[in-house]
Amino acid sequence: MEHYNLTIHEAADLLARREVSSRDLTQAVLDRIRQVEDRVKAYVTITEELALKQADEADKRIAAGDAAPLTGVPAAIKDVICTKGVPTTCGSRMLENFLPPYHAHVTERLLDAGLVMVGKVNMDEFAMGSSTENSAFYPTRNPWDLERVPGGSSGGSAAAVAADECIYALGSDTGGSIRQPASLCGVVGFKPTYGRISRFGLVAFASSLDQIGPLTKDVTDCALVMNVVAGHDRRDSTSAPLDVPDYTQSLIPDLKGIRIGVPQEYFVEGMDDQVRASIEAAVKKMEELGAEVDWQVSLPSTGYALACYYIIAPSEAMANLARYDGVKYGYSNTRGDTMWRNMELTRQHGFGDEVKRRIMLGTYALSAGYYDAYYLKALKARTLIRREFDAAFEKCDALVTAVAPTPAFKIGEKTDDPLQMYLSDVCTIPVNIAGLPAISVPCGLADGLPVGVHIMAKPFDEPTILRVAYAYEQATEWHKARPKL
Ligand code: GLN
Repeated sequence: MEHYNLTIHEAADLLARREVSSRDLTQAVLDRIRQVEDRVKAYVTITEELALKQADEADKRIAAGDAAPLTGVPAAIKDVICTKGVPTTCGSRMLENFLPPYHAHVTERLLDAGLVMVGKVNMDEFAMGSSTENSAFYPTRNPWDLERVPGGSSGGSAAAVAADECIYALGSDTGGSIRQPASLCGVVGFKPTYGRISRFGLVAFASSLDQIGPLTKDVTDCALVMNVVAGHDRRDSTSAPLDVPDYTQSLIPDLKGIRIGVPQEYFVEGMDDQVRASIEAAVKKMEELGAEVDWQVSLPSTGYALACYYIIAPSEAMANLARYDGVKYGYSNTRGDTMWRNMELTRQHGFGDEVKRRIMLGTYALSAGYYDAYYLKALKARTLIRREFDAAFEKCDALVTAVAPTPAFKIGEKTDDPLQMYLSDVCTIPVNIAGLPAISVPCGLADGLPVGVHIMAKPFDEPTILRVAYAYEQATEWHKARPKL
């Protein structure tokens, strides 16, 4: 086994036993990046020098007996999360040369735990997209098939983990952006409850939906990262003032006493037959592991979630993106005659098409006369969706569905049809609308491409999700499947 193949827990064991140093492990990952990156294009910035310096610091910490499970383990961070002094582009020309003056909360937490950051990873511009094709720089490719998308918007994070170009990564999820790429790249992706992880230093897309989370090679690693990044932070007023459990305590290999529901509405029209079969087989496996399964759960408002999201997310986005005016930071075009003209030119050249589309959608939905018809109605639908989940979670501990209706699609296949692109998130969006936690875990291959199973639970019940995910993972081999690059 090459060292770049390791999981966090395997690497931590070797580091603790001094069988490998963080420097060697980091060098192995950097070599791997050199070997495959020109094909995968997962990274926007590779921070080789910084990584090696951090690795040496980690080695000192390990020698001093002061190591935590993540100490000295190379990671990649989505380029929407601020890293002080290291470019944070959000996949946009607007922030191409932006150097954050501070770290995000999660970056600070990881640094305290002994982070080795190998780089910042590619994404759809401002996290708007499902394929990473909306990056202003280049699309990232799926390591399982370089002609296909890795999903998005955290496509760089998922591809980097799948291609062993890092041991783990952070992503962000507003409507599926951690789980969908995790599913399409065959890795684990976890979107915790809204409020579980501070978003201080996460560049805002849609503030009532955004959440940071880990992408890892297995469920154990996911728990280890959660232990470090979860928890209250007074700089994010939406972060919950709740204690953080030790998530590794949830890694129990059986499902006795767990009630699982399978909501029918998630088997959407157009779902790939092999995806459907993989999800059904995953639920049967959970049943064998002791779970009680109700195959007939119904969440009747599910069909409204996508429409509701495409009102709420653009409305919040258009407000959040108002700050890119060419004055305070980021790209600035001053070729106009007036301040207003400069602002127009800045936004015209700084933003890509999808971002402009969202700004127009949001502006329309919030404008006088349309606010009640669109925005207010979307908020009402949101309440209905949330209540249906509440009712379902009175009878079930977890709900299990597909993450995405199809495996990875071809690059370019959906770029001309935004609606088709939006539809790839039908199964993930309701979770953000309701603020729930949910995970994607590898559960099969469809024509050689990875499929993920989606496990949701009630707010702050991350432990149940990790338990179901872990038991399932341990009883199957899917998480061990790797792309041949
Ligand atoms: N694909 C969805 C969108 O384009 C979700 C993106 C996300 O979760 N950041 O908005």
